[in-house]
Amino acid sequence: MLKQRKSTICFILFLSIFFICLMGNFTFSSEASEQLIPQIRSNLNSKKIYTKKKQLKLTLQYAAEQDVIRYTLDGSQPKKTSLIYRAPVKLKKTTVVKACVYRGKKRCSKVYRWKIHIKRPWKITQYADRSGSQAMFYTLCSPTGGLIVVDGGTVGNAAYVRKIIKEKGGVVDAWFLTHPHADHIGAFNQIYPDPQGITIKKIYDTPIDYQYYDTLDQSWDEIGVYANYLNLIKGDHRVHHLNKGDQITVGSLTIKVLNSYNDEVKQLTKDICNDASLVLKFSNAKEHMIFCGDAHSKSIAKYLKKTWKKELKTTYVQTGHHGNNSFPFFLYRYMKPEAAFLDAPQWLIDGEQYSAKELLSRFHEKKVTTYDYRTAPNEITLK
Ligand SMILES: [Zn+2]
Repeated sequence: MLKQRKSTICFILFLSIFFICLMGNFTFSSEASEQLIPQIRSNLNSKKIYTKKKQLKLTLQYAAEQDVIRYTLDGSQPKKTSLIYRAPVKLKKTTVVKACVYRGKKRCSKVYRWKIHIKRPWKITQYADRSGSQAMFYTLCSPTGGLIVVDGGTVGNAAYVRKIIKEKGGVVDAWFLTHPHADHIGAFNQIYPDPQGITIKKIYDTPIDYQYYDTLDQSWDEIGVYANYLNLIKGDHRVHHLNKGDQITVGSLTIKVLNSYNDEVKQLTKDICNDASLVLKFSNAKEHMIFCGDAHSKSIAKYLKKTWKKELKTTYVQTGHHGNNSFPFFLYRYMKPEAAFLDAPQWLIDGEQYSAKELLSRFHEKKVTTYDYRTAPNEITLK
């Protein structure tokens, strides 16, 4: 009886070991045994952010030579049919690499995982409006082909916006509309219903309540432009209304919403269309650019400073309201930009009645570089 029980226990033990071996999940506790498990090393690691312009190459190494490393670059588990590592792999964008060692058809190591963060410089371009008006039109381009558009300017600028988008591949990954004034969304309203081969993947706007805006609008607001926009985009799932604090990513960029239409903003201003502009902070690996749209009131400047404090520090800033009748200078001093953009043509800078020239001279006193329509297109890189 005892003998029979012993042999049963032995048999169960044997079966257990057999199944463990079959699954390939060996776990050894002694240090000596650990050395038998093939270990893969990578020249890149998950903790760093890679920003170099030159091609990034992933090298994988392990000790034994009779086996192969199989790997994937899409985050999936490596299988016995996955790619065999033979030479350094070129990485262009942020990639999840998974690799393990195969001995024949059998996996004989754990699955290694690295997320390689690659942030390349984006090019940001400011364009002057072809109508001669003050307006707002920027593109942000990644070296791997991503394209972001901010506003687009007047209806008279639509052909120019089309041309620029087509030159950059014709696909807009994200189109941000800071606020629905004619000199910001006029071109969009023209292109959206008649894209002529342009693809727009996502549209982001500020969710201004039309009824409320209608109670406050002034003649210069041209609220009909907003009514037109709302009719055009009705039911379009590509449109997203952004709220303060929202954060989205496009390629390697992180975009944080610092201002949008909400009840707080309603309490602070009567110039609701301008002051409910999306204020957006675009961040790459090291540098930032804040777009202020047409937000410009002192109350909004105080509100932004109080809400975001040090998050307002930036490398570049697009000054609110074309740099004319813009935010008080304390906000820009607080942001500490290296360069500031004014979406202003010559007449807006020279005109006696406008304050853009004073803002320019305040920036120049602080040794801040400025860009405006006189030298547009103006291009910088966001590292
Ligand atoms: Zn405006």
